[in-house]
Amino acid sequence: MAARAKAMKAAGVDVVSMSLGEPDMDTPEHVRRAVQEAVDDHWSHYGPVAGIPALREAVANYQNSLSGNAIPWIADDVVVSVGAKMAIYNTIQAIINPGDEVIIPMPSWVSYSEMVKLAEGTVVPVQTTFENRYCLTPEELRKALTSKTRLIILCSPNNPTGAVYSHAELEALLAVLREYPDVYILADEIYNELLYTNTQGPITFSSFTDFADRLVIINGVSKAYAMTGYRVGWIMSKNKGFINACIRLQGQQLTCATMVAQKAAEAALTGGKECVDQMREVFASRRKLICSLAAEIPGFKFHEPEGAFYLFPDVSKWGTGDEVAERLLEEAHVAVVSGSAFGCPSCIRLSYAISEDEIRIALARMAALLK
Ligand code: PMP
Repeated sequence: MAARAKAMKAAGVDVVSMSLGEPDMDTPEHVRRAVQEAVDDHWSHYGPVAGIPALREAVANYQNSLSGNAIPWIADDVVVSVGAKMAIYNTIQAIINPGDEVIIPMPSWVSYSEMVKLAEGTVVPVQTTFENRYCLTPEELRKALTSKTRLIILCSPNNPTGAVYSHAELEALLAVLREYPDVYILADEIYNELLYTNTQGPITFSSFTDFADRLVIINGVSKAYAMTGYRVGWIMSKNKGFINACIRLQGQQLTCATMVAQKAAEAALTGGKECVDQMREVFASRRKLICSLAAEIPGFKFHEPEGAFYLFPDVSKWGTGDEVAERLLEEAHVAVVSGSAFGCPSCIRLSYAISEDEIRIALARMAALLK
């Protein structure tokens, strides 16, 4: 959809694209300066496979600051990779053998299932419900678990739904998983800095100390610091065997993430949180705007997103997500992504990583067409 919107724009059509999953802001200035310094300081050679020590330490410190040292993370627990995407891919490659089952609550980010297939694992999609904000329930989880389950992938704040698991909801899921000690948990926390309704402090899997040896936390600088193109993300785990497997894999596959980009990520994590706070405020204001405009479209069924930068309305009043997305692009010139991409064909995903003016235009066009 993003590519089609771009092509239409190039042909002179005035398209508003709500299809992209990346912040539209510039990378913070102190990060850009650090890149220039890194270039001048000749960070141009190969580095350690697991990442430069200062960045691994900065990641560990960052995670400890979120979870109050509940699990005391150290640099050795961190493997730096090329974006959270490669971190997730490598986690799956390191854990999954052919035939192993991987539980993925649906709707979900598009790549998890495909990555599991690339590792010859078996995807076990679990359909969640609108009524439960598309969050997995302990009952749904219990039904999906078998003796072959090896991994569950949880994403909070969620792409595409914007839902955030509460501490109590995570507790309830983990209570079930305590009965299945061979199941790893991949916690994709890439949107953890973009929380809007949270009153209980950061919600991270690293608060649950008794899961330390089978927990893999994924994060990166893409979303929180508007650094999608730098391609820096990381794996965190207390499981030494797993971390060593990831390092062996990356040694053959990658050598190391781009050194200059790693220096940029280090500068981001050690440079203060004001830039993150500012971006969150911008997104919070857009979120408020899009929710109020979307609420004026009768039949648009949605939960207010608690995190990330997506609205995920059910549009079944008008047709399938595919049909509605197609008509919105062709007739209203608004690009959205059909929920079918995420395993939820009755919905569409609107990214509000665009300006408030664009949000107003897009929602007015949508309202006019859907009416
Ligand atoms: N996980 C989720 C849920 C995402 O939405 C994305 C990016 N769209 C990623 C991981 C990958 O992020 P990165 O840019 O760090 O590879």
